[in-house]
Amino acid sequence: MGATSGTNGATTEAAAKDGDRRLGRRALLIGGAAAAVGTAVLARDELSRLWWRLPGVEKPRVAGAVDFRGARWVAASPANYRRADRPDDYRIDRVVIHVTQGGYASAVKVFQDPAHGAAAHYIVRKDGRITQLIRELDVAFHAGNREYNERSVGIEHEGFVEDPSSFTDAMYTASARLTAAICGRYGIPVDREHVIGHVEVPGTDHTDPGRHWDWERYLGLVRRARA
Ligand SMILES: [Zn+2]
Repeated sequence: MGATSGTNGATTEAAAKDGDRRLGRRALLIGGAAAAVGTAVLARDELSRLWWRLPGVEKPRVAGAVDFRGARWVAASPANYRRADRPDDYRIDRVVIHVTQGGYASAVKVFQDPAHGAAAHYIVRKDGRITQLIRELDVAFHAGNREYNERSVGIEHEGFVEDPSSFTDAMYTASARLTAAICGRYGIPVDREHVIGHVEVPGTDHTDPGRHWDWERYLGLVRRARA
């Protein structure tokens, strides 16, 4: 955020050096498989998807990069999250499900507003399109509870808790794929203890996702997407 082209250049160089170091680590980790990958360029590409598995390595931040393939990147205001290095500094063991109480555009707008003080990592639209606003390695202010912010990934869903028509098939399917990928990435069990609603965060006065959110259906879709 706010990086000049000068600092970008420096970051790219640092990342390149880092990449070489990680290549060594990766070779150590998976042994002969690295040789089979072929060119260093291809290996580097693999690495960009594997970085979260390498403990103690500072993660590269590439402008516009997303953690979920197919998600569209729209940056939240830096005032609405805290830079971190998860899962190395904080273990991620929860996914928190939210409903925006409004449309997609207005949710994006408030997450970009530094005065709002809150934002989630992702928003899922009615049509199933997913937008990522905060990297998973950062702590988004979405749960209203510091410990839960630090340990979770927050997913907003466009719509209203009192309107069952908010929750479309496309939304359930897309969101379940996203949650399945997050659970896979961090080893989070797919159950109601670890995939929770905002309403279940200790100390919250929020009610989302509300009584119309079909948890049984959702967890079933997440499990199917995992398999
Ligand atoms: Zn919420």
